[in-house]
Amino acid sequence: MGLLRSWRRRRRLEQVRIDPDLWARVVAAYDFLAELSEDERRRLHDLVVLFLGEKEMHGEAGMALTDEIRVAIAAQACLPILELGIDYYDGFVGVIVYPGQFHVRREEFDEDGVMHEWDDELSGEALPGGPVVLSWEDVGLAGAGYNVVIHEFAHKLDMLRGDADGYPAAHPDMDAAEWHRVLEVTYLRLCDKVDRGRPTPFDEYAAEHPAEFFAVMTEEFFTDPRLLREEYPTLYGQLVRFYRQDPAVRIREVAHGRVSSTP
Ligand SMILES: [Zn+2]
Repeated sequence: MGLLRSWRRRRRLEQVRIDPDLWARVVAAYDFLAELSEDERRRLHDLVVLFLGEKEMHGEAGMALTDEIRVAIAAQACLPILELGIDYYDGFVGVIVYPGQFHVRREEFDEDGVMHEWDDELSGEALPGGPVVLSWEDVGLAGAGYNVVIHEFAHKLDMLRGDADGYPAAHPDMDAAEWHRVLEVTYLRLCDKVDRGRPTPFDEYAAEHPAEFFAVMTEEFFTDPRLLREEYPTLYGQLVRFYRQDPAVRIREVAHGRVSSTP
């Protein structure tokens, strides 16, 4: 089955190419994609081709999906797995896109066994074993430190072993205990700051749960890496090992290129 799948993937890569103008527009729309090297962009393109072939993306609530929307979502979703590979998104096929925030009905039993029901309004959701759900309006709010696509797909990486717990499996070349320790200690540090009402440069939603911490720090890592490296250098170093990318260095190279091209 593995062989058949890799043959299908090779064939798809030989046969399918994203329209170059469309691809250029999507890359230019996001700083963290524009900063990629030519080689990285070529590999991201191939991942996007595979992603669009293997995932089923569809619109809900009247949302019509254009190629531009599909490619924009896939390109952001594939950045975290650029050095990991498409297999890291195994276990789900669906990507559902709403025009704006969507409602979900929540039910929870409290300790007295009483069931509470309420409506939640969400910009994105990753369901264990199920689809990733996105609000296109919120996808459009992407900026430094905020990216709903990267956030939800970080949850998917976290769910490779089951429910998201904030501690995705370390790679064999990583020190698993150190990875776990750094994630936990940094999470507790942020929680402590938030509890004391101290300002933090990061979305305080990260203090809700270790899984949210991992997803928010992943957003920071890819969209505002220098800030994360400055605030939490040890965590940043661990994320470099986990994602096998160093986005802060990437930015500096681009900035340097721009500086040196100025007379
Ligand atoms: Zn989340």
